[in-house]
Amino acid sequence: MRILIANDDGVYSPGICALAQVAQDFGEVRVVAPDVEMSSASHSITASRPLSYKRTPLKGIEAYRVNGTPGDCVALGAHHWEKVDVVLSGINLGPNLGNGLWHSGTLAAAKQAVLFGMRGFAFSTPVGEDEPDWEMLKRWAAKTLEILLPDERLSLVNVNFPMTEPRGMRWTRQSVKQYDGKVVPGRDPMGREHFWFTVVPIEETEEGTDRWAVEHGYVSLTPLRLDLTNEKELAEALTRHPLA
Ligand code: MN
Repeated sequence: MRILIANDDGVYSPGICALAQVAQDFGEVRVVAPDVEMSSASHSITASRPLSYKRTPLKGIEAYRVNGTPGDCVALGAHHWEKVDVVLSGINLGPNLGNGLWHSGTLAAAKQAVLFGMRGFAFSTPVGEDEPDWEMLKRWAAKTLEILLPDERLSLVNVNFPMTEPRGMRWTRQSVKQYDGKVVPGRDPMGREHFWFTVVPIEETEEGTDRWAVEHGYVSLTPLRLDLTNEKELAEALTRHPLA
């Protein structure tokens, strides 16, 4: 099995190294990731300038850095390496839950894989004041891959780890009732007003959702799809506004 590893934190993030090391037990591994952090780049691509693809050392793993987005990295990775089966993205430093998925560059790499006919799985972990426990996360990433990789019917799955040693794993749905994007005003040292548009953690207790699972100490596995069609509103619109 050929496994392409990407992320949005950049090729030198400890999270991508941990994920690549785990993936080596499951198949041939190659890392292709942005040369700098591209968090919140979502599913953007670089269309206005050319991209570079440069070999870069990464603890004995074949790796390349790209001056582009996570989506660009998957495109260039698949272009340079034939017959990739699956793209793993992460492990992101920070959760990717609920409506925050719209902004996620980590998930975008997995989505880009699906657009190209591969499978894509995204991995994220919350980060506290201390460095994440990478050995613990690697054990749980391996448990997750043991479920996801052999099951060809799972094409796009968003995986989130809890803050501490997991109690287990849960299949979840995306929590969509709340949005955690907020504009936070501040002042620079010169007294000038500025703004951060940022994602502030929110609490969500709706059982069965991704956010509920990680808040209760479980690894959250959410199968996703790329078809954004609102089936209910489409059916209603066809009835209410029949178009000639
Ligand atoms: Mn990130």
